[in-house]
Amino acid sequence: MSVRVRFAPSPTGEPHIGNVRTVVFNWLFARKMGGQFILRIEDTDRVRYKPQTIQTIMDGLRWLGLDWDEGPGLEELVRSGVERPEDYAVGGPAGPYVQSERLSFYREAAETLVRSGHAYRCNCSPERLEQVREYQREHKLPVMYDRHCRDLGSGEIAPDEPHVIRLRAPLTGQTVVHDLIKGDVVFDNAEIDDQVLLKSDGFPTYHLAVVVDDHHMQITHVIRGDDWIPSTPKRVLIYGALGWALPDYCHVPLVTMPGGKKLAKREGATSITEFRTAGYLPEALFNFLALLGWSPGEGDEQEIFSRGELIERFDLFRVSRSSAAFSYEKLDWLNGVTIRSLPADELANRLIPFWQQAGLVPTPCPDSMRPMLRAIAPLVQERLKVLSDVAEWTDFFFKDIEVPGVETLVGKKLTEAESLAALQAARGLLADLESFDAGTLEQSLRGLAASLGLKAGPLLGIIRQAVTNKAVTPPLFGTLAALGRERSLARIDAALVVLQAAA
Ligand code: GLU
Repeated sequence: MSVRVRFAPSPTGEPHIGNVRTVVFNWLFARKMGGQFILRIEDTDRVRYKPQTIQTIMDGLRWLGLDWDEGPGLEELVRSGVERPEDYAVGGPAGPYVQSERLSFYREAAETLVRSGHAYRCNCSPERLEQVREYQREHKLPVMYDRHCRDLGSGEIAPDEPHVIRLRAPLTGQTVVHDLIKGDVVFDNAEIDDQVLLKSDGFPTYHLAVVVDDHHMQITHVIRGDDWIPSTPKRVLIYGALGWALPDYCHVPLVTMPGGKKLAKREGATSITEFRTAGYLPEALFNFLALLGWSPGEGDEQEIFSRGELIERFDLFRVSRSSAAFSYEKLDWLNGVTIRSLPADELANRLIPFWQQAGLVPTPCPDSMRPMLRAIAPLVQERLKVLSDVAEWTDFFFKDIEVPGVETLVGKKLTEAESLAALQAARGLLADLESFDAGTLEQSLRGLAASLGLKAGPLLGIIRQAVTNKAVTPPLFGTLAALGRERSLARIDAALVVLQAAA
């Protein structure tokens, strides 16, 4: 059978970027092995359930290019309240892929376990359970169910009386989790709780649901964060009790900050949406996440990989055994490199939403604006770390600038009168140039500086201030060309008035 892996998010919030790294490993493994990557929505926690996160999760996966081969179908998505369900419906032979639609499977498995003696009914009240826990906490005992109902005779709790179904965990012996990355992890059965499998409202707990679903969906490899290891023996016991074959477990080390501390937010970014809004490119983030805890080979220095290369070279058995450090510097660097590798037209297209977000470009973007956007994109390509930086670099192209103050207009080591004369000469030249492209502008303005006996720097500085009201901008000649002759001259004229008044 071919490899089948899954991403099984709980729609209680957006997955943390560290977990998204694990999704990337699942996806790469499936693609590398020619297998299937399955999306399953684990919505059994009805208290923390936030239906809108289903859509956000699917949007994030799509944006990162993590397509799924099987997942919720149209009807399931409609019932889950997803807007535009037709855009996300995939379906598949092992559905439904939303757990709240699979309650009968869990009930059946739980009843089978009761019949075979591997599980039992329990009608302890929440108050009693709390008293037990309190006692255990007070006496520094492990906090777990005290097995009160474990040995009640059959018939003492009727199936129609409110109750839960609990796992009858063995009291002696050991349970071993065979893990592809960690090796064998051994647990004493006496420490395994008689876990609730089915709640009194008919919903399963995660432990039962995940086993039933992974089995029915024929998942071959469970690849997830190693914070799930401690509860895995419960699931190993459930598989055994149901007589089902275990999947291969592969618990990958967590993502931390450099130095091992808990992964912290920077500028609010810990979910895909946040990285997307901040202006990271999906291909850069994907590349970065794939290398968090995995590398293609000893001594391999390569950092930039195409998606195809990553698929080809990914090897689950080379995933590191130690935690992976999330370096924002490396991500910024990768993002910058990726931005610089884009064709200018493509970059302009990717920048449009960020200009729109900053209120600089209307939505939809008018066709008449596109030539200017295409001219601006290469000017900022070298300078952007993230796409959202574009607003700050380019706002003066889109909106009127404040007329610069005289102190910013006076050139370095020049007087007001000299600065005025230089800007007047430049104005004359720009008005008469036959062509207003960057090459012509550069040649003629450098020529003008020489003929005025000035260094190019101060002259270009005055023009830069006049047309942008900023000291640092994208390259000036391209900026003038993109701004156009008419707007450039109008701004220079306004600056001339300021200089005239001061000279
Ligand atoms: N629903 C679980 C979660 O939210 C899935 C864990 C697993 O992969 O087994 O993380």
